Amino acid sequence: ESGKQNISLIVVGHVDAGKSTLMGRLLYDLGELSEKEKVSNERGSKRVGKGSFAFAWGLDALGDERDRGVTIDIATTHFATPHRNVTLLDAPGHRDFIPAMISGAAQADVALMVVDGSPGEFEAGFERGGQTREHAWLVRSLGVKEIVVAINKMDLVSWSQDRYEDIVEALKPFLVSAGFAASKTTFLPLAAMEGINVLENNEDTLKSWYDGPTLIDTLDKVEVPARPYDSPLRIPLSNVFKGQTAVASGVAVSGRLCSGIVQVGDRLRAVPGDEVANVRTIEVDEDSAPYAVAGQNVTLYLSGIDPIHLAIGTVLCPTSLPVRLVTRFVAQILVFDLQTPIIAGTAVELFHHSMNLPATISKLVSISEKGAVTKKSPRVLQKGMTGLVEISLRPGQGGGRTPSVPLETAADNKEMGRVLIRRAGETIAAGIVQEILA
Ligand code: GDP
Repeated sequence: ESGKQNISLIVVGHVDAGKSTLMGRLLYDLGELSEKEKVSNERGSKRVGKGSFAFAWGLDALGDERDRGVTIDIATTHFATPHRNVTLLDAPGHRDFIPAMISGAAQADVALMVVDGSPGEFEAGFERGGQTREHAWLVRSLGVKEIVVAINKMDLVSWSQDRYEDIVEALKPFLVSAGFAASKTTFLPLAAMEGINVLENNEDTLKSWYDGPTLIDTLDKVEVPARPYDSPLRIPLSNVFKGQTAVASGVAVSGRLCSGIVQVGDRLRAVPGDEVANVRTIEVDEDSAPYAVAGQNVTLYLSGIDPIHLAIGTVLCPTSLPVRLVTRFVAQILVFDLQTPIIAGTAVELFHHSMNLPATISKLVSISEKGAVTKKSPRVLQKGMTGLVEISLRPGQGGGRTPSVPLETAADNKEMGRVLIRRAGETIAAGIVQEILA
């Protein structure tokens, strides 16, 4: 346990690529799941249907809440490799689940992308309409720098080296174009169902041409990013549990430290709002701890605050240095693969950590290429372009007050300065906050 470094992993990939099977297999082979759980969860998985491997494998252990499937934002599971404690963030694969994936990816250090290597299936997931590209863009835009690609179902192509290499040749340049450094992309052939090359390479045909690492070896060597310990504490909440905790009358919350340090006894401000809470207990990976640092996922037991003042998306901060609530800002955005271009006045949904709010792209400031402005005040932003835009929050459908979002510039705090922009259920752009206007 001690001395191991923490990493957060998100699993992405086209529906049916084998994400649930692979995670189930990995946890089972590591001894984290019993045979009984394996069987009952396989059954459960069929009943609940697709979507999330936490659903499929019953890993989030939240009982009733899991069945209702409403209050959960991100489910997390833990496992260990020889040198790493890994927090597995649940990334459901369905199109509708992308908002949940977004908040997962915002917390992840590394992405595991599962692709289906079987005939026609890799192609289906990679071409337009497939989720492989969108997932890669999303995780990279949200700051994930390293990606491990598991080319799954190799049993269905008789462990063909040619097939494997063709897929690597198609994917690698794409991942580089999506912003991953070539050295931060790793590929490996495997079969999740039979468990080949997950913990061990026990397939003779594969051994004859592949002597690279197994999945577990690869995860054990993932680079741990530098953590912003010195910046003010920011914990965007991904879960709030009311009253049902071991600590009587307590409130429990969970989330990941984007920056800073939290200690038992700290007084924290909950933004939005003016309320202050006391940190009574800290849990890291289900063990209690005296403190936690940037990069760790925590559960905090709080006192002195009514849970009514806490919600998914609330950010816990030091009382002296709270995050600002913003209604208008300038962002540099990268436009994804979309058909209708972005114009001034485009109504969108703004995603920031676990929050999503109605907003408008109120102004197109400029288009840039390779860091230099090529056009000022453009009329439209098209697919693949990078540009500066002004984004304004707006009242939701029911009218009322304009909402605000706890944001910082990316220069001040990388993780607090990233947003995603969606329209009609599609992610249209990712952005970095450059300037706060109001
Ligand atoms: P998800 O949607 O990405 O979570 O995919 P699932 O894990 O539900 O898997 C989709 C289908 O692929 C299921 O029918 C699995 O049994 C099957 N599958 C997963 N891994 C393998 C594999 O290594 N080999 C074969 N032949 N089938 C697999």
